[in-house]
This record gives sequence, C-alpha cells and structure tokens, in this order.
Amino acid sequence: MSEEELILKAGRIAATTLKEASSLVKPGAKVLDICEYVENRIRELGGKPAFPCNISINYVAAHYSPYINDTFTVPEGAVVKLDIGAQIDGYLSDTAVTVVLDDKYQKLAEAARDALYAAIQNFRANTNIGEIGKIIEKVIKMYGYKPIRNLGGHLIKRYELHAGISIPNVYERVPWKIKEGEVYAIEPFVTDGGGEVIEGKDVTIFALRNPNVKTTNELERKVLNEIEARFKTLPFTERWLKDLGEPDTIRNVLRSLAKKKALTQYAVLVEVKKGIVAQFEHTVLVTKDGPIVTTSQNI
Ligand code: MN
Ligand code: MN
Repeated sequence: MSEEELILKAGRIAATTLKEASSLVKPGAKVLDICEYVENRIRELGGKPAFPCNISINYVAAHYSPYINDTFTVPEGAVVKLDIGAQIDGYLSDTAVTVVLDDKYQKLAEAARDALYAAIQNFRANTNIGEIGKIIEKVIKMYGYKPIRNLGGHLIKRYELHAGISIPNVYERVPWKIKEGEVYAIEPFVTDGGGEVIEGKDVTIFALRNPNVKTTNELERKVLNEIEARFKTLPFTERWLKDLGEPDTIRNVLRSLAKKKALTQYAVLVEVKKGIVAQFEHTVLVTKDGPIVTTSQNI
C-alpha cells in the first residue's frame, strides 16, 4: 500500500470504531469497557491504537484513559469526549466526538462540531494556520461560548502524533502555512468555563522520552525495554503493560521511570473554572484538490 493508502486506511479504521463506540456511551457504562472495545476493535480492523483511548468527562477536557481495573462509570447527564486514533506502520489517525447525555449541553457540542467543519472547509494549501484559528474562534463565539485557547490541532507525521506545528483554537499570528501532502488533526475545544485547561493530578498516559536512562532496578529495565519495543515514541497507558506485573507495581514503575525522565507524563487536563467541555476532531490530508477527511464517518 502507498503512504496515502495507509493514511486513509488508518483514518477509516478510527472512523468505524468511533462511530460504533459512541453508541456505547450511556449512563452507567464502564469507561474501561468502552475503551477496551475501542482498542480491540481497532486491532480487529487491521490497525493498532495510535494512542490510548481517551474518555474525558464534563470538565475533564482530555487525556483520561482508564486505569487497569478502573471501576469509573459514565454519570447521568454527562458530556463525554471520546478521542481515539489508529495507526498502521506508523501512519496515524486521530478523531473525537462528544456524546451529550443532557440536552442543555447540545449547543455546546454543536459549537465544537460547527467550528470543526468550518475549519475543514477552509483547510487548503497555502492558507496560514493562524487563519484556521480565527475561523474556529469566530464560530465558537457566535454560539456564545469560549474556545479553549491552550489546546489545539496538530501536524501529524509518521510515528509522530504532535509533529511540531499546532493549530490554535483562537486567532494567533503564526508564520506557518498549510502545505500539500501534509496531514493535520483539527480539534476545536469549546467550554462554558474560563477557556483554558490546567493539569489535574491524575496521569494515565505516558510516552517514551529516553530509553537509555540508567536504572539498576530489573523490573524498571524490563518495562522500559518493553515500552520501546511495543510503542516506540507513541503514547501508551498502564493497561497495555498489565501482563508485566500487578497493577500497583506497574503504576509505581511508570511513576519512577517518569521521575528519571525516561518517560514523558501527560497529565489529565481539566478546565480551569470547571466549565463543561466539548470537542470534535478529524484528521485531514491536504491535497491539491482540497482536504480529504481521512476519519470521515460517512464512508
Ligand atoms: Mn485526539
Ligand atoms: Mn489530536
């Protein structure tokens, strides 16, 4: 398969999986069951998860992936962001929906979806990335909400989910222009809170930072080698290492490796004023004829 075919296939797998998994988001459903469905389904369809399934609820904006033996369930009336991705041979997709279980937040989700589609329509080669932020901000403000200014989309390269360039959700003067052949994830975040996220205390997602860090602990060495072999530099979660030891042991090893700077930690991100957060996300491939949404659910 050509690079483009692999990019499109990774997108299709994520799209199919996300559509199916969003129907599992109901009050009382275990977040662990939803995420395990997602990750297994991606494998069944011929890909691998590009990163751990994120299920972020209400004022949690991003980066919550269930723990091993997580017992947390979807609350009544929740606003649930399901953010998933697939990879084939390092070619990535990244896509998210918001499932709203309380009608009063429908408009919040609509603002995020509308902003995403407006951004996609204008996502053409030679357009300045700052213009995309401007469009996203304008649509969200028309609805009377705030964009989250310190979260945004990103350039995607092979094995690199965040490949340097960010797409802001507000207008910013930046020197970058969209180029033909590039792949981007576009992801407006909308809130009725302060318009900013801060790090919470939970950490459920990690990525390899330095595989050569010194450790005399045998299990730490083994876990670090497995991380490098299994995930390279892509994000992972403790569930994907549960075959290597007891849950508490694995959790402590990951913490210790992060302290030694062998791993990067991605803390759970929460809205600064505990506002409710909605997000929609698609991956697009820029062609000379315009953007192709690789994660479109209408295919
Ligand atoms: Mn995402
Ligand atoms: Mn993303």
